[in-house]
Amino acid sequence: MTDTIFGRIARGEQAADLLYEDEDVVAFRDINPQAPIHILVIPRKPIATLNALEPQDAELIGKLFLAAARIAAQEGIAERGYRTVINCNAEAGQTVFHLHLHLLGGRPLQWPPG
Ligand code: AMP
Repeated sequence: MTDTIFGRIARGEQAADLLYEDEDVVAFRDINPQAPIHILVIPRKPIATLNALEPQDAELIGKLFLAAARIAAQEGIAERGYRTVINCNAEAGQTVFHLHLHLLGGRPLQWPPG
C-alpha cells in the first residue's frame, strides 16, 4: 500500500497529539473531532482497510480494541459509554487508507449513524 499520514505518525515522522503507544499500536486525538472525545487507534503495521486484514492480524486487531477500552477508561467515559467505529472504503467515508479505529464519546451519540 502507499504511505499515508497515519503511517508517518506511527513512525514518529509526523506530529500528533499522542495518547498511547506500544510496539504494535499508536493512539492520538483526531484533528477534526466529531465528539468531545475523538481518538484514533491505529496499528503500526500499514493495513489499508479492514478488507486487507489477514488471519495473522487477528491478535493485532484485538490489541486495537484493548487499547481503545483502556483509553476510554483513562478519558473517563468507560461507564458513560462510547463508540468504536472502523470505516471501510468509500461508502463508509474512509479517507485515510491506513486502518484506524475511531473512539468517540463525551456526548450522547445518535443511532443509527448517518
Ligand atoms: P476516516 O474517514 O475513517 O478515514 O477517518 C479519518 C480521520 O482522520 C478523520 O476523522 C480525520 O479528521 C482524521 N485525521 C486526518 N489527518 C489527521 C491528522 N494528521 N491527525 C489526526 N487526525 C487526522
